[in-house]
Amino acid sequence: MRTIQNSSGPISDSETSGEAGSFTASFTGKEYYHELINRANTVPLLKLFKHYSLRLDDNNRRIVCPFSSHQGGRESSGSFYFYPQTNTFWCFGCKTGVAPCDLIAGLDNCSKVKAAMKILELFGDDTDDDNIFDRQMFTKKLEIMMEFSTVVREFSQANPDHKAQCFIEHICSVYDELNLKHKDFSNEALRRVVDQLKEEISSYNV
Ligand SMILES: [Zn+2]
Repeated sequence: MRTIQNSSGPISDSETSGEAGSFTASFTGKEYYHELINRANTVPLLKLFKHYSLRLDDNNRRIVCPFSSHQGGRESSGSFYFYPQTNTFWCFGCKTGVAPCDLIAGLDNCSKVKAAMKILELFGDDTDDDNIFDRQMFTKKLEIMMEFSTVVREFSQANPDHKAQCFIEHICSVYDELNLKHKDFSNEALRRVVDQLKEEISSYNV
């Protein structure tokens, strides 16, 4: 479980590494999961408290810690605080916080990525989007990224030899570099890059 000290740090490898191997995590995994977690963290904690029958709201901001990892679930002093203004929480007993994904990860005893997926499944409509257009752009972007990720994974699985792995790693690093240089890639630009890289992958000679 994440504590406040490292809440802004990188998410752990266990959450980012996909089946395709570690190098692909750098361009799909991390970015994708960070977006997922950030998005889920914009869902109001109040919704989650209600869903889990935790009696916290704007007036009652302190309860007995609901985490089973805190004194085997028998915490009794009420160390768990809710901060509505920042949509965060903190338990002074087990030193756990702070965002919606941390709450669900703690309650369900799962990874933050799993927690994010669950939150978005339950309350996807409550994310704090600027507008619906942004959300559609975001969804489209994820689709393109996941599509590329699939092509890379399939190639990687079909060509386990060293030369092919070097090749696909190179393709991924090109993709990484382009994405770093153009942080605000439009979906059209991303589409062009992905199509071009896919073409290179498909023309690879074993
Ligand atoms: Zn606690």
